[in-house]
Amino acid sequence: MTSRLTVNWAAPKAAISAIVVQPSINGCYHSSPPPGHMEFLERTLLTGVPGESVERTAPMDRHRSLDDSVQYLKGVGSQGAKVLARLGIFTVRDLLRHYPRRWEDRTNFVNAGDVRPGEWVTVSGSVNSVVTKYPKGPRLAVTEVTLNDDGEPIRLIWFNQPYLERQFKQLISPDRYVVAYGQARRSMWAVEIQNPEWEELGESGDLLSANRIVPIYPSTEGIRQARIRRIVDTALRSSTMDIEESLPLDIRKRHNLLGAASAAQAIHFPSTFAQLECARRRLIFEEFFQLQIGLALRRRMASLDAGGLLFEVDPQDIFRQIGQIVPFPLTSAQRRTITEISADVTSGRAMNRLLQGDVGSGKTIVAIAAALMAVANGFQVALMAPTEILAQQHAIVLRKLVEPLGIPVELVLGSLRTKDKKEVRDRLAGGLSRIAVGTHALIEEGVEFARLGLVIVDEQHRFGVLQRQSLSKKGVRPHVLVMTATPIPRTLTLTLYGDLDVSLLDELPPGRKQIRTHWKAAEKRAQVYEATRRILESGRQVYIVCALVEDSEKLQAKSAIQLSENVAANVFPEYRVGLLHGQMKSDEKESVMARFKAHEVDVLVATSVIEVGIDVPNACVIIIEDADRFGLAQLHQLRGRVGRGQNDSFCILMGNPKSEVGRARMRALVESSDGFKIAEEDLNLRGPGEFYGTRQSGLPELSIADILRDVDVLVETRNAAFSLVESDPRLSDPANIPLRRALERSRVGFDLISVG
Ligand code: ADP
Ligand code: MG
Repeated sequence: MTSRLTVNWAAPKAAISAIVVQPSINGCYHSSPPPGHMEFLERTLLTGVPGESVERTAPMDRHRSLDDSVQYLKGVGSQGAKVLARLGIFTVRDLLRHYPRRWEDRTNFVNAGDVRPGEWVTVSGSVNSVVTKYPKGPRLAVTEVTLNDDGEPIRLIWFNQPYLERQFKQLISPDRYVVAYGQARRSMWAVEIQNPEWEELGESGDLLSANRIVPIYPSTEGIRQARIRRIVDTALRSSTMDIEESLPLDIRKRHNLLGAASAAQAIHFPSTFAQLECARRRLIFEEFFQLQIGLALRRRMASLDAGGLLFEVDPQDIFRQIGQIVPFPLTSAQRRTITEISADVTSGRAMNRLLQGDVGSGKTIVAIAAALMAVANGFQVALMAPTEILAQQHAIVLRKLVEPLGIPVELVLGSLRTKDKKEVRDRLAGGLSRIAVGTHALIEEGVEFARLGLVIVDEQHRFGVLQRQSLSKKGVRPHVLVMTATPIPRTLTLTLYGDLDVSLLDELPPGRKQIRTHWKAAEKRAQVYEATRRILESGRQVYIVCALVEDSEKLQAKSAIQLSENVAANVFPEYRVGLLHGQMKSDEKESVMARFKAHEVDVLVATSVIEVGIDVPNACVIIIEDADRFGLAQLHQLRGRVGRGQNDSFCILMGNPKSEVGRARMRALVESSDGFKIAEEDLNLRGPGEFYGTRQSGLPELSIADILRDVDVLVETRNAAFSLVESDPRLSDPANIPLRRALERSRVGFDLISVG
């Protein structure tokens, strides 16, 4: 069983067999230089001759520009260009940025007998036999390919791809080879891989696909790996000299970074894994660096602009005023944050501050304090919330607290009747109303302010950067305070909100009870309802959140209606059941919320519209149906609806999640009440794009860097970028001109620059 599988390679060197694959790109990032790094650097970077290590065996087919269409590369043509376009590749630059998703070491072979089950391996050999079986009748085709039977056989297995049989039959020949990649299992007689990726090893002349570290690309139908490799190689040969170096030399030296051209070569065709690592590090650095330069420029522009409104504020006055209108002392985190805000607005520069605080940490009071500062200085305030319900809630709270001080509060909703809308708009434009609370209706055309001095955006993660900006544009450089209840993992604070100063409300008001969270299977529903009844008997109130339905608000509303009818008729007939969903008219919503708050309703059946902001201290149970359909951060927000009073509070997650990720979510919530921990976990489970929704959040699209995995580099680039912008804010130093150009070219940089 241990005999070595021997086969002649295209190049005579090695016997086939299993190759233990190097750790994949996702697993092995070192933030300190990997072994071999220095020598490689010396050869490439420090000599200052990028691309020197690139062999040029073929004549140069010189390319004018990286921005030319790939179509004109040798071997592509208009057909090839069409296929590449499906991969998002249009220009040579796109092609070179089409980074491999992994690399296979096709130089090092170990014995098939050494493969451990579970390992991801690349195997290779000539095809010995192919057979398709139907073990359970015609609905399940199992195609088995056996490679080199004479040592320990390797079996490749595909399900329901019977056409593969023909392809492999044609390959049966002692001097044709296939390479396959997948997770190894051990069966009695063989090393086995199910559904491997595979390709035929090229002709003996195909130096790109054999006897080296071979790139495996994201691909699409109609183009084989070997062809992509050839095209990339052609591009590299024809354009290496044209690859612009965007990183200033001293940055490269200080951070031990490879030159641009060498990195481009080595990311596609590394000669060693150490070299590959250097290339990756450089490209990741570059991507983050440009992003951070953009953010630094934006922050700089904001802070240099002397046009920021200058308020006069004595924080002690504000504390005194707040003391008159709320019955509790502020937490020290609230006092600190209010002091930070007053320092901002009295600095003469425009405030750009992000206020992060977990659910229930008391952000509203901080917003009110900021509003009082603006009003005292004769300015208007706009407070924008993501939903009508939340806007209404804010309006209720603000009216209660600040109208006694003689400050009128206006509510601006899209659903206002035309006549009301006009009146509201007139009052704002005329400067009569000092505080406008509303939804995105606030940024609609036609809403004008006489003297807008402060913009507060609540629950920021629902708004894009652009919306934040369009509201600011309604004033002349108003101060901006962004509040979020979804704690933002530090990594995202550094990218998404890198242009903002950050305040943390890291302290809950005293006396808060821990919310106990339980996860119950759907079969336990009757029990859960019984326990809930006891809570209702003691005079407390309850939320029941219905399952998330698709993306459709209509269906969502329908399921809420059904649930509430069922609860009212069959579960708690003796209690008053209310209903709240997104499709209701705003006055209906408002009245339901008011009745729940006044305890004229005991059980509120709702959709996730209650996710943010709702504050009813007497409600102390929240039951969430099919909880696994919600995101983790969302569940944490929902849970934050309870635990706001002096009572023991409970969050019951109903659901039988099918996936491991779903179960992991439930466990994370049961185990932790720390919003930051949960947000990090959420980000890990879902990935950043989904976490915020790339498009609406303005989360930059990164092609090689990963804000979770590469957080060390992110921090490194942040410091480097901010100090570069500090010393050369216009990027006009000749050493920084290429950087400036790269920034203008890149989408990331462009967005940042053009938004700012
Ligand atoms: P969030 O940060 O989630 O927006 P809120 O501003 O809605 O939190 O505050 C949650 C609850 O805590 C409200 O009922 C509010 O009145 C109360 N609260 C805020 N600050 C304090 C404090 N310093 N002491 C006691 N209760 C407070
Ligand atoms: Mg709030």
